[in-house]
Amino acid sequence: MAPLIVIEGIDGSGKGTQAQQLTERLAATGRRVQLLSFPRYRETLFGHAIGDFLNGRFGQLNEVHPFLASVLYAADRFESRSVLTDALQQSDVVICDRYVPSNLAHQGAKLEGAERDELLRTIERIEFEVFALPRPSLVVLLDVPVDIAQRNIAAKKPRSYTDKAADLQEADAGYLQRVRDVYLQLATTDPIWQRVESVRAGKQRSITEIGDDILGRVLPTFA
Ligand code: ADP
Repeated sequence: MAPLIVIEGIDGSGKGTQAQQLTERLAATGRRVQLLSFPRYRETLFGHAIGDFLNGRFGQLNEVHPFLASVLYAADRFESRSVLTDALQQSDVVICDRYVPSNLAHQGAKLEGAERDELLRTIERIEFEVFALPRPSLVVLLDVPVDIAQRNIAAKKPRSYTDKAADLQEADAGYLQRVRDVYLQLATTDPIWQRVESVRAGKQRSITEIGDDILGRVLPTFA
C-alpha cells in the first residue's frame, strides 16, 4: 500500500494550498499521486450533513455534543473508504487535506481534561477500528497563530458548503485557539506527527518555503 500523508492544521493554516502544492511536486518526481480532501461535502450523504451542521442547521455548534458531531465526520470517511483504499492501491502516494486528526482536534477542543482524553480515544476507535479506516503514515501539522489564520480565512475564495465568508467555527478565535492546542498536544505525543511552523519571526513564511519544508519531511516516507 502507498504511504498516506495527511495535512492538518486549523482553518486558514494553508492546508488546501500545501496539499495541492505537495501533490504537484510529488507528481513532478514521476510518482502517481492522489489528493483527497475531507469532509467530502458534495460527494457523500454525511458530507452534506456536515455542511448543514456547520451552517447551524442542527442548532448552535456548542449545542451539538462533540461525540455526535464526531460521528458525522467519521461516517463521511466510512462512506469514502473504497475511494481511499482504491487510491492507496493504485497510486504511489495518497495525500489527504484533513483526515482523522481533524476530528480529534475539532471535537476534542470542545471538552477538557479526562472528558477530552476519553473522546479522543473513542474517535480513534470509531475511525480506525469500527470503520477500519487506514492509519496515516505521516501527519504534517501546519502550525499557525490564530490571528494569522483568520487573516488567511478572510482572503479565501467562496466555499461549496457555506455562503458566509467564515463559517461559524472559523469566526470563533477562542475555539480556533483550543483546536490549535489539541493539535499541538497530539503532535507531541504521537511520533508519526511532524510540526511545520507557518510563521517565523512573526511573519508568515512564503507558500514555497513551507512547501520545501513539507517535501523534506515527506520524502523519507518513501525510503
Ligand atoms: P486551509 O485549507 O488550511 O483552510 P488555505 O490553503 O485555503 O487554508 O489557505 C487560506 C488562504 O491563505 C488562501 O487564500 C491561501 O492562498 C492563503 N495562504 C495559505 N498559505 C499562505 C502563506 N504561506 N502565505 C500567504 N498566504 C497564504
